[in-house]
Amino acid sequence: MAKVVIVGAGVIGLGTAMLLAQDGHDVTVFERDPAPPPSSAPDAWKVWERRGVNQFRLPHAFLARFRQILDTELPKVSRALEAAGALRMNYVRSVLPETVTGGWRPGDESYELLTGRRSVTEAVLATVAEGTAGVSIRRGTAVAALETGAPVVPGIPHVNGLRLQNGTIVHADLVVDVAGRRSALPAWLAEIGARRPSEELADSGFVYFGRHFRSADGTLPAQFGPALMHIGTISSLSLPADNGTWSLGIVTTSADRALLALRDPTRWEAVVRSLPLVAHWLDGEPIDVGVKVMAKLEDRYRGFVIDGEPVATGVVAIGDSWACSNPANGRGASIGMLHAQVLRDQLRAVGLGDPKRFAEAFYIATAETVEPWYRATFAQDRHRLHEVEAAIRGDIYDPGDPLYEAEKALAAAGPRDPDCLRAGLDIRLVLRRPDEVFADSALRERALELGEDWREDTPPGPTREELLSLVGS
Ligand SMILES: Cc1cc2nc3c(=O)[nH]c(=O)nc-3n(C[C@H](O)[C@H](O)[C@H](O)COP(=O)(O)OP(=O)(O)OC[C@H]3O[C@@H](n4cnc5c(N)ncnc54)[C@H](O)[C@@H]3O)c2cc1C
Repeated sequence: MAKVVIVGAGVIGLGTAMLLAQDGHDVTVFERDPAPPPSSAPDAWKVWERRGVNQFRLPHAFLARFRQILDTELPKVSRALEAAGALRMNYVRSVLPETVTGGWRPGDESYELLTGRRSVTEAVLATVAEGTAGVSIRRGTAVAALETGAPVVPGIPHVNGLRLQNGTIVHADLVVDVAGRRSALPAWLAEIGARRPSEELADSGFVYFGRHFRSADGTLPAQFGPALMHIGTISSLSLPADNGTWSLGIVTTSADRALLALRDPTRWEAVVRSLPLVAHWLDGEPIDVGVKVMAKLEDRYRGFVIDGEPVATGVVAIGDSWACSNPANGRGASIGMLHAQVLRDQLRAVGLGDPKRFAEAFYIATAETVEPWYRATFAQDRHRLHEVEAAIRGDIYDPGDPLYEAEKALAAAGPRDPDCLRAGLDIRLVLRRPDEVFADSALRERALELGEDWREDTPPGPTREELLSLVGS
């Protein structure tokens, strides 16, 4: 079995460590942030310092695919999450009325979520990972560079370990970079003489403004609309979480300068109050101070095989370090864990005996299984950015893209047809990709017919002028 070192003990670094250790690999995780996970959910929320993860206290929901991978591959994490108060919920069983769902059907179990605040969820993953045989987590230990050995392919650097910030060199059979959106991996690769990975970086991004709340009696606000709703130039997020807590988010784009005023709690609240389907989510005790903001949330993809050749052997990137997209869709953890499964499976199938073959096999498996989710999310993000730009100008966005039309119609058809509802949930909860769903031409036709009025069927909210007035512009 292999000696594997992982850079980063975020959600995906921890999940990967456990998946690989379960297969007998010897896994060491290096994490820059020093603080260990607190043992209680309140402390994980209040006191856990995680400067390395900017989104640590921003709204998160962990979707059905994430839950499915935990339940099947890491059931001890699922159990520990439930013990810590995480919310197991199924929109079909407990949120949507039977008149909409058409009643419970075999297979509806797949729509179950196991979710909680980011800090609480990660603390549980970290605690279980620390107790997992074969996993060692070294916190307060930043990685500074890659180490190289003799190339296995002439001209392509071979990574055989890491150099820590304190100068220590750690050798390994495989380095897995899970250092998040701002990973230094491209710079480290440049330092060892590797070609730069190809990088696709969108030129504009989303901005998040979020707050968390708690009820006095552990109940959660009623969900009157989808967790993510696009309302003119803003999107709302209303996400149930653990232990009677929830989060509320407003998502805008960096092009919409006037809405940067949403960082002011009074203006943020005024805007949420103007959204009839989510205003009641304000009726709880705020459990954070002020509005948490994160900007420059671009879509970014990195390709580590160029013209059929890996830029280096002995090193791979997964999770946000490989690709990240607009987090409003809530797919990051699900896509990241899918990627971790792919890594585990390629180690099983191909192994590390031939590092070039492994690099290629991992690249191909990523491209087949994980990248389509990134591409689908990226396409949605581009459309959303253009929708907002058009709405700011007072125009109607009409890209003439059949997939865009089909997805919009499907969302509108969901409350009118149980099959369309489930097809929409499949996409939203990262169970089936849009192209897989729409390969069913009968379903596609039904969605287009039942949801043809999608342009008029928009959630209620302020006009652009009212919105600008609410933020004081
Ligand atoms: C605002 C926002 C909201 C989101 N909401 C959702 C959601 O609702 N649902 C969802 O599934 N996803 C969501 N995401 C995405 C999700 O947070 C990420 O997909 C997920 O955190 C990726 O995990 P990761 O382990 O790849 O990276 P991260 O969680 O970013 O972890 C990277 C880790 O690497 C460490 N590190 C970095 N450099 C070094 C180094 N040199 N040495 C040692 N350690 C290092 C960091 O300290 C950090 O701990 C959201 C993201 C954002 C930005």
